[in-house]
This record gives sequence, structure tokens and C-alpha cells, in this order.
Amino acid sequence: MFKLFFFLCIYTASYNGVETDVPVKEFNGYRYLSLKPISQLLDSKINYLQKSGRIFWQKGNQNIVLTDKSPWITINGKPYNFPLPVIKQDDEVFISPSMLIPLLKSRFNLLADLRDDEIILLDRKIKIEKIVIDAGHGGKDPGAIGLNKTKEKDVVLKISLIVADELSKLGANCILTRDTDVFIPLQERTDIANKKGADIFVSIHLNACRNRNVRGCEVYFLSKARTDWERAVEAKENSVIEFEDREITPDLESIMWDLSQAEHLTESKELAAFILESIVKRAKVTSRGVKQANFHVLRGAYMPAVLVEGEHLSYPECEKKLKDSNFVRNIALGIVDGVKEFIEVYEKQMNYD
Ligand SMILES: [Zn+2]
Repeated sequence: MFKLFFFLCIYTASYNGVETDVPVKEFNGYRYLSLKPISQLLDSKINYLQKSGRIFWQKGNQNIVLTDKSPWITINGKPYNFPLPVIKQDDEVFISPSMLIPLLKSRFNLLADLRDDEIILLDRKIKIEKIVIDAGHGGKDPGAIGLNKTKEKDVVLKISLIVADELSKLGANCILTRDTDVFIPLQERTDIANKKGADIFVSIHLNACRNRNVRGCEVYFLSKARTDWERAVEAKENSVIEFEDREITPDLESIMWDLSQAEHLTESKELAAFILESIVKRAKVTSRGVKQANFHVLRGAYMPAVLVEGEHLSYPECEKKLKDSNFVRNIALGIVDGVKEFIEVYEKQMNYD
């Protein structure tokens, strides 16, 4: 049944600027690609077990077991059925593009673009697509104000515009809650995110405190504040409510809001950690850790959501730095790196579990 084969040609596979030859054969009228050179290109390993006809394809914690003449493969112990069988000939393993392309996508996070005689492997772009970037405060609410009158609302808008621009370049669909100096009530910010079906919500702020010696970056996720510091920051960011012409939210509604974030607690915490780490790296600011507090702006967000306190406006030296466009840009790029890293890990978890 599998004896009908023809040597067709040699394709060129490329990944990250490295090229390799891939022999192509035709079995029963179907085009098959040699797996070995592709596996080498991806820095993965292939081992055979002669007796059983099993082929082990392994990279990191990914274990794919193929069987000669079988369309069934197991991925990390789970069986999957494909349209065409695997074929082993001497020391070469051949698989059809209908098996290879989905495997590359789900196991190696790669998009395979098959052209005439070329296989171009590309790292997958962001799949978590909709990201809401929320520039804190705005309009009649200036947020924190530094000694030299630098306003939180202006700096966070600058940061947010860069974040949205850079994430868009990576293929994300970014939605800004505001792109000008306008006042937006807290609840409207998460409403925007929920209505648009956003995948991630990032609220961007700057901190301030009475003690002008305190500086550094901290990133929050929604939960009960545990320390006096967390409670103080929570009170500061929630005080925007005073600018809003509405009644305080009834208790029942607030419980439901909290539940919506509880579902995403782990993700939000992870997102916060990634963002904090990359801001510290990029902008060389002090890390004040991942923290938790009950922010109104995060309540009701049906998605992983965090609040970034980029730096302290109340620390005179930091206020000066926040006027420097390079520093502002580095904080923004830190947020971008963190979001990107979170998406990579999150998507892998989603695909591999
Ligand atoms: Zn703020």
C-alpha cells in the first residue's frame, strides 16, 4: 500500500534566517516532507525504536510519538488522529503537511507557510488579540501631581499611547479607553473592555505618597488589600469616584464584580509579575513588588486585569525622569514586554494542557 512513492524534489525550509534542505516524496499521490531536517531546524530531537516502528519527536516538555504507517500520534500522552499516516523509510521519517502544519502551530508555536518549493517557519504572532489600555485619570481628574506640577494624567497618556502603538505592531488589537485629556468614570473603563470582548485589561498609573523618599514600580491585581500600603494606594486610585456624578455601587453589585475578577485571579497575578519584571529591566526602576488591592477600575473586568503604578511622581528625582521621553518610553516598552511574555506563556498553557 505504501510502496508507491516517488522522489519529487527538495524544498528549502527556513527559520530565523537559517535554511535547510527538505527532501519531498510522493506517497500514494500525496506530498510528504522529510521530518528530520525540519526537526533539526527547530533544535528538536528524533529517535526511533526499530521494533515497534515508533518515532519519538521531542523538544523541551513536548513529547510527540509517531508510529510508522499510522495516522495516530500521541502528544504528551494524548492520542490524536490525522488524515494521513506517517511513513518511515530507512532512516527517514516522512509526514504530510496536513500533520506537520498543525503540529508546528500547536506544539512549537510556529506558523508554517508552504509555498512552491519553500517552507517558511515563522514565530506565531499574538493570538490574544484585544488588549484594552487604560490611561488613568484625565480631564477634571489630574491624578497625582508632582512638586513641579507634572500631572499623572498627562504622563500616563503618553505611556499608554506608546504601549498601544507597540502592541499593535506585534499584531494586537489595542483599544484605548482614552487617547485625549478627557474624564472617563471608572466603571465605564471596564465597560469598554467587556463590551469589546477584550482579552487583557491594563490600567496605567503613577504613584505618589506623602513620604517623598519612596520610589519604584509596583503592579497590582484585583483582590483584597492586605497591607496599609496597599490600602493607601487603593484609596488614592479609588478616590476618583469623588469626581463622578453617581451613587456608590450597592454591595450586591460589588460582590458580582469581584467574582468576575476572581475567575482570572491567577492570570492577573501572572500578568502583573511579567509586567513588573520587564518595567524594572527596561526602565531600571526599583521593584516594589506585585501587590493586590480592591481597585474599582479593575472590578467587573471579565478578563485578566492589572493596574500598573509605573513610578512615584512624589519623588522629585523621578518626577524629573518622567519628563524625559526616553524614560517614559522605557516604562511603556516594559509594559509591552510583560504583556508579550504573558501572552506567550498563557497561549502555551492553553494549547498544551
Ligand atoms: Zn492613578
